[in-house]
Amino acid sequence: MMRARLLLYRLSSTLLGQAILSALSFGVSVPFLRQKTAGTGKAREPARKRPFLVLITVDTEAGYVSKDERRVWQKEAPEAFQGYHAGIRNLRRIFSKHGVRATFFLSTHCFSSAGGEYARIITELKGLLKEGHEIGLHPHPDSDRALQKKLGREFPATSCFFYDTGQLLEFINSSKRLIGEHLGKPAESAIKSIRWGNWALNTDGAKAVAASGFLVDSSATPGIAGHEGDSRKFDWKKAHGHSPWRLSSTDYADCQSTAQRGSGVLEIPIATFSFFGKAMRADPQYSVLLRKAFARYHAHADRSQHPFPFVVMTHSSEATLREGSPTKAALELENFIAFAKTFPDVEFTTALEARNKYLKN
Ligand SMILES: [Zn+2]
Repeated sequence: MMRARLLLYRLSSTLLGQAILSALSFGVSVPFLRQKTAGTGKAREPARKRPFLVLITVDTEAGYVSKDERRVWQKEAPEAFQGYHAGIRNLRRIFSKHGVRATFFLSTHCFSSAGGEYARIITELKGLLKEGHEIGLHPHPDSDRALQKKLGREFPATSCFFYDTGQLLEFINSSKRLIGEHLGKPAESAIKSIRWGNWALNTDGAKAVAASGFLVDSSATPGIAGHEGDSRKFDWKKAHGHSPWRLSSTDYADCQSTAQRGSGVLEIPIATFSFFGKAMRADPQYSVLLRKAFARYHAHADRSQHPFPFVVMTHSSEATLREGSPTKAALELENFIAFAKTFPDVEFTTALEARNKYLKN
């Protein structure tokens, strides 16, 4: 599984590899995108009245990309704070150049940095806020040293499946307070969106998210599960839909949940697609495949009642090499933004803005 992904990263990073993927891109499909009209068995052509929203979301954490395209993650290299300062700086340049505002889901681990690195990180985070980007929360209790220090103990897992609602609430509230202490109270109050680390939300997590005043969750990866049997377990196999839903506090993966049955939290799922049967997330590092999936969504997602939010995800750590220069993945993200802009009705928005536009119609 990990080998297959590394192979894809490497393929995507060379021209020859991109040509191969391009030749194979007929293998891209989007399960559950076109809904059948009840009774007729015929797929209906969706009306395209409302905007097609594009959300660039960045899981903001330690780490970097090594020369051989391997991803070094926060868990493996908690001291690799360039994932924050250099990663955010490289992304800010791209977003400024293209006039795009994005959503940065922040692991509060960054607040355990020190000295010059800490100062650089704070500068970057404040720069994000000044430029109109949104900061949300991205809990990784097992690798977040600032959170562990605040709570006076270590935690064995990132996934919500290993904790009860009380413990999950403590993670959320302490992380928010850390943001307040380091970025100021207004930054803390502005936190309205969340993506659980490793997409590993569950029903207890959904309760904690609803109870702590969030308005948006973007943890869902419809049709995809992973890490069953280890501390990063996540499971969105049952969620067979790509449109937003009201996050339910009785069954987190119930994507039919409505305003009557769900909480006040709107689940805006990450766009997923299938490549020869392998489920994949909308990630610019598979740029050739992402473009194909994007075009499919743009043509077929139902926009008759609400705008459709298309969520792309990347990591700040994937935007920087060890020494701080931009990565091929960062370049691919930039190329994707330019590509998406050529489509009609496209609007780049942050998570909270997308929620407001979605609910307003
Ligand atoms: Zn993460």
